[in-house]
Amino acid sequence: MSDVSLDTLVSLCKQRGFVFPASEIYGGFGSTYDYGPLGVELKRNVKDLWWRSVVRERSDVVGLDSAIIQSPNVWEASGHVQNFHDPMVDCLECKGRFRADHLEGPTCPTCGVAGRFTEAREFNLMFRTQVGPVAEAGSEAYLRPETAQGIFINFDHVLTSTRRRLPFGIAQQGKSFRNEITLGNFIFRTREFEQMEMEFFCAPAESDEWYQRWIDLREQWYVDLGIDPDNLRRDVHPSEKLSHYSAGTTDLQYRYPWGWDELEGIANRTDFDLTQHAAASGKRLDYFDQEANEHFVPHVIEPAAGVDRIMLALLCDAYTVLQDEKGNDRTVLAFSPRVAPVTVAVLPISRKEPVAELSRKVWAGIRPHWATQYDDTQSIGRRYRRQDEIGTPLCVTVDFDSLEDQAVTIRDRDTQEQVRVPIANLEGALRDRLGF
Ligand code: ATP
Repeated sequence: MSDVSLDTLVSLCKQRGFVFPASEIYGGFGSTYDYGPLGVELKRNVKDLWWRSVVRERSDVVGLDSAIIQSPNVWEASGHVQNFHDPMVDCLECKGRFRADHLEGPTCPTCGVAGRFTEAREFNLMFRTQVGPVAEAGSEAYLRPETAQGIFINFDHVLTSTRRRLPFGIAQQGKSFRNEITLGNFIFRTREFEQMEMEFFCAPAESDEWYQRWIDLREQWYVDLGIDPDNLRRDVHPSEKLSHYSAGTTDLQYRYPWGWDELEGIANRTDFDLTQHAAASGKRLDYFDQEANEHFVPHVIEPAAGVDRIMLALLCDAYTVLQDEKGNDRTVLAFSPRVAPVTVAVLPISRKEPVAELSRKVWAGIRPHWATQYDDTQSIGRRYRRQDEIGTPLCVTVDFDSLEDQAVTIRDRDTQEQVRVPIANLEGALRDRLGF
């Protein structure tokens, strides 16, 4: 990572169409963001790469897409109604509001005055809503604050419908909602965000081994995305910091512009969730081991990641300032090809026919295979810069010679090297360079 400031990234994201401040025409809506045309492609790539690695390429994990609004009983049983609190304090001097567990000492981080905090008050982070047309007792429900509980309450459905044997996992991606006390750092902590969670059920005796294995697998996934390993680290929670149900928690952290912070948490949640839901619902949520002829409640390992935080880490990590041949600064988002929102850009040297017609033909030939863009505005140099700035690994230039030799130029984002290839071999030549 170059030492990019968050402000620089925020403005690049808005200017180029990755992330827009939400409701901006009405003055904005604090710490809420909309993903633009490039952001949505980047997000899709992150989610697809996770799904591939956690579900499709494995033989022991299946997917799920559960409802966002469930029976309120779910959140009673999971402990969220009782315990999903953060301690909140206000500074009497500047009226700033903070999470007490994020403060270091008695000094207000905003105004610098010491000892003017209110007593900490507990604040439940779940958003409440009402189901049905009239507000009455029993109509209150919650927006889910995590996707995981949707998995636990479907444990038996999945087990029965797929006839799975242990160990196996259930994975889910989707929006979660938390009425966070303190927000900020762009898309790092927001009220509405997207999670990718997997609950891996196993025999109690194997849980520690699977916990370690999932930490390794998840860490490697970030390296495979192209994140510099020097910007990744593990934060193993000491036993006194663990939630009462956890037999181990390790966070994977990224070195963001403001310091190390959590990307993903991997927890050994023991049999806590299934036991809670079984007790509260009166339904059996266990597993019958045919060989041992016994029933038991599986233990569960949970890797829980946030899509938005991963996107921010990818943006920070990819941001690089290189020099062009004239010694000018060249901003490049050095995304790995599978992550990049645009994989190949087609750049005709002229907007006039017959170059334009040939260019459109070249574009149509590659469009089914990758995320592509066609850009015929402004000078070719400016167009290369623009593609560098959004992280497009390869550009294809169609020029006047192309009409004669039926060949085009592939230009590499990182090396700026240009090679001439016949249009007939273009797809293969791009595939060789991209690796997919
Ligand atoms: P934090 O302490 O940073 O608020 P957490 O430990 O409460 O996060 P978990 O409950 O473990 O987070 O949620 C799993 C993942 O979901 C986190 O690692 C993070 O990537 C993502 N996540 C949680 N809360 C938010 C949020 N408010 N905005 C964006 N992503 C979030």
